[in-house]
Amino acid sequence: MRFDPADYELIAPGTLQAVVALLADEPGKWLPIAGGTDVMVLYTAGKLPARKLVSIWNLAELRSIEVLPNEIKIGAGCTYTELREHYVIAQEFPLLASAARWTGGIANQNRGTLGGNIANASPAADSLPALLAYEAELILVSVRGERRVPYVGFHTGYKKKKLADDELIRAICLRRGFSEYLHYSRKVGARNAQAISKVCVAALGRLRGGVGGGGDAIDDVRIALGSVAPVPLRLTEVERIVSGKSVDPELVKLARRAVAAAIQPIDDIRSTARYRAAVAGNLIAEFLEQLRATGKTA
Ligand SMILES: Cc1cc2nc3c(=O)[nH]c(=O)nc-3n(C[C@H](O)[C@H](O)[C@H](O)COP(=O)(O)OP(=O)(O)OC[C@H]3O[C@@H](n4cnc5c(N)ncnc54)[C@H](O)[C@@H]3O)c2cc1C
Repeated sequence: MRFDPADYELIAPGTLQAVVALLADEPGKWLPIAGGTDVMVLYTAGKLPARKLVSIWNLAELRSIEVLPNEIKIGAGCTYTELREHYVIAQEFPLLASAARWTGGIANQNRGTLGGNIANASPAADSLPALLAYEAELILVSVRGERRVPYVGFHTGYKKKKLADDELIRAICLRRGFSEYLHYSRKVGARNAQAISKVCVAALGRLRGGVGGGGDAIDDVRIALGSVAPVPLRLTEVERIVSGKSVDPELVKLARRAVAAAIQPIDDIRSTARYRAAVAGNLIAEFLEQLRATGKTA
């Protein structure tokens, strides 16, 4: 697509209310731009279909991280650097903190936002498996008010999402209370920084029996993978198979089989379907073995 910068319009109304009013006036005409780390890649490649851009960067209403007794509410406009540096996120939600740490490089982390990662809807987005594992909820906002929806099911297909043309993601809510869980995350890419994931995983697990109770059966488990299907996946069938069981080689074998059945990896410029499938199985096996070894209990 040929393009001329003069064809584009960028405005910054400065408040959330003014932005949602603009989106409501001309639904689908204005593209929100937050940190711009995805939008500007399309722009410079001449592949940005939108001509009218409305800046939501630095809107105060999207920038706070609220720590409440039962949950943490992260403004969609918070950057990876802000996520990485937040003490509650670092301590209680390490799956999200590590995804923030390994997204792009430092410059990207200073600009890229969590809301942008969700709305961009890439199956390889690094923060999304963590949101699935923590069972995040999203607060969406428009002139009609706010609605709160579970993040699971928000992405309905490759680059597709349940977000109306006049809506913004306002915040991401994570329930607190995972201190007794093993938090396991890995990103497999060509290198540690500036690499899109070939496979990424976020998983949480807890063994039964109470602290020091000696139980070794899996009491609660959540497993999510990115880059192995058109959308980030929660592996509910794998979870069902391992729940209530003690981790042993037979269970790991069953889990590996269930992982292979649940994912739909593809060959692309970054990897092959075969490699992705092998890595996904290995990572889930590693998670289960770590869960058994650490013996974290309720
Ligand atoms: C060099 C480089 C390296 C990268 N590395 C990684 C990586 O390792 N892992 C990874 O996951 N991603 C990576 N990315 C992608 C990108 O940085 C992330 O997806 C980032 O989170 C996008 O956030 P943003 O604020 O910059 O979004 P923008 O580019 O501003 O917007 C992206 C999309 O989201 C929409 N949007 C933004 N905010 C909202 C909102 N609040 N409500 C509704 N819609 C919204 C925009 O309209 C647009 O469609 C990389 C990008 C670059 C350029």
